[in-house]
Amino acid sequence: MSLIAFVGLGNMGGPMAANLVRAGHHVTGFDLVPSSLEAAEADGIAIANSAREAVAGAEIVLTMLPAGKHVLAVWTDILPAAADGALLIDCSTIDVESARAAHVMAGKRGVLSLDAPVSGGTVGARDATLTFMVGGSADAFAAGEPVLARMGRRVVHCGEAGSGQAAKICNNMILGITMIGISEAFVLGEKLGLGHQALFDVASTSSGSCWALTTHCPVPGPVPTSAANNGYKPGFATDLMLKDLNLSQEAARSAGAATPLGAEAASLYREFQGGGNGGVDYSGIIAFLRERAG
Ligand code: NAD
Repeated sequence: MSLIAFVGLGNMGGPMAANLVRAGHHVTGFDLVPSSLEAAEADGIAIANSAREAVAGAEIVLTMLPAGKHVLAVWTDILPAAADGALLIDCSTIDVESARAAHVMAGKRGVLSLDAPVSGGTVGARDATLTFMVGGSADAFAAGEPVLARMGRRVVHCGEAGSGQAAKICNNMILGITMIGISEAFVLGEKLGLGHQALFDVASTSSGSCWALTTHCPVPGPVPTSAANNGYKPGFATDLMLKDLNLSQEAARSAGAATPLGAEAASLYREFQGGGNGGVDYSGIIAFLRERAG
């Protein structure tokens, strides 16, 4: 059993912390939202009055927060209260620059740190089937891997500080681009009189096959569990897809990488979101592309 602190008990952090309790760890948590605290308490998490109070004495400290500015603010607040020998792990999806800055702060305090963003969404958080993409030293990874493994199915060490965030935004840039490509193909198929199932049967077993098609197929029918069968209820909300695409473009600009399709995907998702679709599953962009076709 480890003493674990968990700051940020929202849609992802709440169920992740609950899985650590189920695994036999003692988890103390904190969030700013009272309803999240109540839900966490019901899951067996001890509630602290502040993030600082939560981390006091903890061997491992996890954060699961909205964006880089929240992570830097919380880490600035908690690092002085962290125990000697503690390991800090940030599982939020944030910009690479902030992730690296957080590692530097932890290093100055003399504690180990990891950036460990996840893939798998709220279902993966609930079922402990997340994939963790982890950046940090080999020592930090060795210390953090057993705890991350209780919340997920795969824990991949991607490299030094910030590499987990780099892997996450590269992966999700692929996902955003491929979902638009798949949706364009279905819209073109409709115009050509091609049935959804026929296109799926061919593409899913041919060179057009990819994870977004076979798991998140944007038309109802071929993949019964996809959001298209459920009124495009997320799943993976457009707001989050756009967040990740924006992070990828920010990183591309600062690293000097050419990502023209990533930029176009971000622009299309921005327009889709601007039409009031931020809470719609990202595969719902097919409706927006259909409208464009007239
Ligand atoms: P959320 O908004 O449900 O949870 C974030 C929580 O952080 C909130 O409960 C908020 O009150 C809390 N918080 C903010 N500032 C705080 C502070 N100073 N002290 C304590 N708590 C604070 O968001 P989420 O869906 O759980 O996502 C969390 C992170 O995981 C984000 O970075 C997101 O991009 C990433 N992510 C989300 C999903 C998903 O499907 N929801 C999937 C993969 C990754």
